[in-house]
Amino acid sequence: MLSFTYDALPSRVVFGAGSVTKLNEELDRLGVKKALVLCTHQQWSIATQVTASLGDRTVGLFDRAVMHVPVEIAEAAREEAAKLGADACIAVGGGSTTGLAKAVALTSDLPVIAVPTTYAGSEMTPIWGMTADGVKKTGRDLRVLPRTVIYDPDLTMSLPVAMSVTSGMNAIAHCVEGLYSKDANPIVSLMAEDGIRAIAKALPRIVKNPDDAEARADALYGAWLGGAVLGAVGMALHHKLCHTLGGSFNLPHAETHTVVLPHAIAYNSPESPDAMARVVRALHAAGMPARDAATGIWDLAAGLGAPVSLESIGMLRRHLERAADLAVENPYWNPRPVTRVGVRSLLEDAFEGKRPASVILQ
Ligand code: NAD
Repeated sequence: MLSFTYDALPSRVVFGAGSVTKLNEELDRLGVKKALVLCTHQQWSIATQVTASLGDRTVGLFDRAVMHVPVEIAEAAREEAAKLGADACIAVGGGSTTGLAKAVALTSDLPVIAVPTTYAGSEMTPIWGMTADGVKKTGRDLRVLPRTVIYDPDLTMSLPVAMSVTSGMNAIAHCVEGLYSKDANPIVSLMAEDGIRAIAKALPRIVKNPDDAEARADALYGAWLGGAVLGAVGMALHHKLCHTLGGSFNLPHAETHTVVLPHAIAYNSPESPDAMARVVRALHAAGMPARDAATGIWDLAAGLGAPVSLESIGMLRRHLERAADLAVENPYWNPRPVTRVGVRSLLEDAFEGKRPASVILQ
């Protein structure tokens, strides 16, 4: 019998090419008068462009967002917001920039308006993360959930192809783990399946032609769904492993998700046949004749020229034992029990970049 709990998160989404021109209108809705704009150093010019029409509604531009939100940077942004009397933060960028805005919101209650430029999905979640002394802490707090998210595919045109592919695979990972989550529910599963379909269909077109506006819009639509899934239900082994590999071995975020995902799927497949059937159905709908979820996702990544081995993205073989220890240190929910032996073998396959064995479920 069907039985589930579903929490809808209170955020407003404005989607469409050119939608960034509605930023002023969206600030009106929230009563924002003095916004602090956040971005990475590399995205300074795009952030300036996006916020040019806001006039004196922006009181400053803080361009020091970096990966994993170091606590010192969060403190500096908080001080800047307080010094300028900001009444909101506008995050223009990927997960690192949104993460910085969340860190400010966490201690100040300032509303966040997110203008995402990657497919990471942080803008749809109440999850914050901050790194101190090499350790990343995360938590859930509704105060950090962006109030308004403006998804403008035009802003993703500049995302390099390789980054588009791995960022898209990162969004697919949210969808896949959402399908077999312990909190899985029919609404989230619909979003997850369509998210996989949209991204799997869009990425090959982006690789072929990075200026394909429709493909960019489809990928961003899928990214929205991926973010919504991540925000709505709990994740499992795949996200835990990627968090460990990124946090303790400094591996790049989206690439790590890309490499680990097929192996996490292979590990969990025997215990989540319905979820895997939906992954396969989504790949078929995207025009990919996948036989099973694990090889289908591996083929998608490999076919797009993405990295498929941990070795190729900077992991050292001698760190595999420690990574396996860390990954099983604190117990967490997963459809299949997480064992040290199982995780070590998964990491070995991911390190070598093996195509997973086909797991055909009846
Ligand atoms: P990122 O934000 O670090 O961006 C990567 C690089 O791409 C940066 O140099 C950035 O300036 C550049 N960039 C971004 N958009 C661009 C564009 N359109 N054109 C050209 N360059 C562009 O990377 P990310 O993958 O978006 O985010 C990763 C971070 O987000 C990680 O720290 C991860 O933990 C976090 N994250 C958090 C959540 C959450 O819910 N809290 C969810 C997903 C990711």
